[in-house]
Parts: sequence; structure tokens; C-alpha cells
Amino acid sequence: MSGLPSMKMNPDAVDFIDDAYLTGLLNGPRPEPAEVRDLVAKSLAKQPLTVEETSVLLRSDDPELIEEIYQTARTLKETVYGNRIVLFAPLYVGNDCVNDCAYCGFQRSNRLAVRRTLTEAELREQVMKLEAAGHKRLILVFGEHPRYDADFIARQVRTVYETRNGHGEIRRVNINAAPMDPEGYRIIKAAGIGTYQIFQETYHHETYARVHTAGTRKGDYGYRLNGLSRALEAGCDDVGTGVLFGLYDWRFEVLGLVAHAVHLSDRYGVGPHTISFPRLRPACGVSFPGLGSVGDGDLKRVIATLRLAVPYTGLILTARENAALRREAMSLGVSQIDAGSRIEIGGYTQEEATQLMDREQFELGDTRSLDTVMRELLQDGYLPSFCTACYRLGRTGEHFMEFAIPGFIKRYCTPNALTTLTEYLVDYASPETRRAGEGLIRKELDRLDPGPQKTELEKRLARIEKTDDRDLYF
Ligand code: SAM
Ligand code: SF4
Repeated sequence: MSGLPSMKMNPDAVDFIDDAYLTGLLNGPRPEPAEVRDLVAKSLAKQPLTVEETSVLLRSDDPELIEEIYQTARTLKETVYGNRIVLFAPLYVGNDCVNDCAYCGFQRSNRLAVRRTLTEAELREQVMKLEAAGHKRLILVFGEHPRYDADFIARQVRTVYETRNGHGEIRRVNINAAPMDPEGYRIIKAAGIGTYQIFQETYHHETYARVHTAGTRKGDYGYRLNGLSRALEAGCDDVGTGVLFGLYDWRFEVLGLVAHAVHLSDRYGVGPHTISFPRLRPACGVSFPGLGSVGDGDLKRVIATLRLAVPYTGLILTARENAALRREAMSLGVSQIDAGSRIEIGGYTQEEATQLMDREQFELGDTRSLDTVMRELLQDGYLPSFCTACYRLGRTGEHFMEFAIPGFIKRYCTPNALTTLTEYLVDYASPETRRAGEGLIRKELDRLDPGPQKTELEKRLARIEKTDDRDLYF
């Protein structure tokens, strides 16, 4: 191992975050109700909002208008995005880290952290356990360390895809790891990754410099900010961004996220596939101010504002949040959640039901099993989906197509959600979850127009029930 790879920027990289400009926007006048309502109408027409327009929504402090923004987010969720929720699980591969992020349990100066990297055999064991629970989509998570270079990550990705367990298989592997150089992205892309996620943590330069030690890899704001641009230029056509809420003013961060989405979409013709909005959680061996500084109400506003501002981007709500909040926030436009998550390295084969804080990056708020979360979703009328069809058929930019192409959801997303849900119910669900699922499937089928596609779908659902045939996507 020759140490960390070089840090090569793309030649035309720009820092598109102007702190003073964004702060100025947030300090603008209180908007007139008509101004907010015009933007609400624009969102309902699925048109992305500019940074300036988003700031208008954020400047509004009139409870009635805020309720209208929430209501718009709910309407968009119900009528445009529908009731599908995509499920995934995080898989932490290693927590060695050369950085010293002030908020993270993996920071190099945390003496209490138990350091570990899964061997290939251990990785297989974790994957088999996740497959046995019914998962089909994973996100592999890494600290930043020379050991976790692009070749290593690519090997892990291949191992995950190769690991099978009965009907169980992982069909999509996403990555959350440090930003790479172009060559690194190419190596990882060749292994067949789905989304490459890099959270900027905070878009505010001064705060970024305060929480990320100078001279560390992560201390370079620009290298990280341009990480997704390099990924797109290197051919990773599916990227995700995010902010760690609690480091700086949440309104500023929402503008940063929208500015990032606008930048990517202007330059590469495609915005981020997903945005994540983790809030700071307690971490063992780390005392960091900012916990609790973004309240539940603030988080709901973050989600609703993003739902209105970036109509073609998936929104991910993780198990950092507790079950009650997740349930409530879902209606505001969330499209993906993790479930049955363990974030200790090797956590999925651990005997202990409680979280081992010295082995995890932070404490989780929702530790319910996948089956329990599935049951709640089904009882609340959501359609849980493990679909991975678009990415495997090369239909990239799937989230964009889902919402931009009329009829796409009906033609592909709902049928694929139903086939993957049926697989889950037949192969993994508890009797109670299966009952809830069968009820929902009947309702969804009733809502589909009669015709050859519905007939074909019904045939495929019956095949999954009666045979070993799986993975029957449209
Ligand atoms: N090491 C890579 C990096 O920093 O980009 C990979 C991701 S890190 C393991 C995953 C994410 O967890 C970070 O980007 C950060 O947003 C989040 N995170 C770190 N500490 C956290 C905490 N105390 N509470 C909640 N989320 C945290
Ligand atoms: Fe390392 Fe990532 Fe944690 Fe920072 S957030 S200490 S880079 S694992």
C-alpha cells in the first residue's frame, strides 16, 4: 500500500457556493403570500426551483404558508410520486479513517473506537444475513483510509454481487465513501455500482474548515465539493449528495443542496439521483456541540422544501431518525429508507440486540427489523419496493424518467414494486406482514388498467408464488 492516492481535480472545477450570496438571500424580506403561492404552483407542475426561489420558501415564517408548503409536499408525494418507498440496508465495511471529522465516531483521534475491516469471508457472512432478511439493495460504507482504495472497494462490490443465499441476492450496491480521483471512479464503476454518495456535510466554508482538520484529506472543501462532478465525468452517471444537519444553519444548507443540484444539472444534464439529510447523532468517544440544534420541525421543513425544489431527486431518510418521526416525515416526499439496519462493523451477525456504541459511527434511532418496518409501511398504505430494474437495464437517470415521462411509474415502477414485494412476502415475511402485503397487492392491482401488461404482471406474480422463478422485472 503506497499511501493515499493523489487528489486530482477536474481541470474546470469551480466552487459554486458563494456563502455571502446565500446568506444574503436568507436575509431578504419576508415574502408576500402570493410569491410563495406562485412557487407552490410551479412545484406542483414538477418544475425545479432556483436557489433564489427556494430561499423565498425558506424565508416564509407565516404558519399558514408553511402549512401550505407541507400540504404541497404531501400532494406531490401522493399524486406525483405515489405511495412507493424503496428499501435498502447500510453495510459498514471498515472504520479505519485518516480524517478527524469533529462529529464522527470513526475520527482518527477517537481512542475508544474499536477499529475493524471486514475480511472477504466476513463480508460474505454479513451479506448472507441481509439476504436472509429479504434485502436486495445495499449501500457499502467506508471510512477514508489507504486500505479502502478504489480496487478494494471494487472487490467488495463484486463479492457482494456474487454472494447468494437461496433466493436471496443483492441486485444493487451503492457506495458511501470518500471522494475519488477520476481513475478511482472508473474502477468502481466497472464493478457495477449503483449510486456513488458523497455528503458535503456542510456547504458553509468556515464551518467546514472548523469541523474538518486542515491538512487532512477531508479538510479540502473544494476537492469534496467537486467529488460528484469528477464521478459524473468519469462515467458514474448516478450520484447522491447530502448534508449533515446540525453543523450549520439548516436553511443555508438547503440552499447549498439546491445550488449543488442546479450546478450538476446545468453542467452534466443530470442532477443528483438522491439527496440525504442525516441529522447529527451521538457518537461514542466524541463530544460535539450541535446535537439537537435542528429540531423535528426543522427537519420536516428541510424535507418539504427539498420536495418542492428538486422534483426529480429521490429523498433518503435514514434510521438515524426514530420510528415515529420517520413515519410522519415519509408523507412529505421521502422516497427511500433503510430498515433492519445495524451499523457496527459486522453488526448483522452480532448476537447482541442492543447497539455496541464503540463499534459504530453514531447511534441509530430506529433499530426495528425489516419485517416490522415492512408491516408498518404496508399498514400505512405504502408500497414497499426492492426494485432495481432501471439501473440493470441501463435506464439511468431513472428517478428523472419516473417523474418526467408520463406513464413511466404505471408501466414500470408499480409493477416492479409488486413483483419485488411478492418475492419478499413469499420468501421472507412473517405471516402478519404477508397478510398486510397481500391486501395491499390486491388494492394496487385493482387500480391498474386492465390490458396485456396487467395480465402479464398477474402471471408473473403467480409464478413467484408457485415456482422458484424470481427477478421478473419490466
Ligand atoms: N468516510 C466517508 C466520508 O466521510 O465521506 C464515508 C462516509 S461516513 C462513514 C458516512 C456519513 O455519516 C458522513 O458523510 C456523515 O454525514 C455521517 N455522519 C458522521 N458522523 C455522524 C454522526 N455523529 N451522526 C450522524 N451522521 C454522521
Ligand atoms: Fe472518517 Fe467519514 Fe467519519 Fe470523517 S465522516 S471521520 S471521513 S468515516
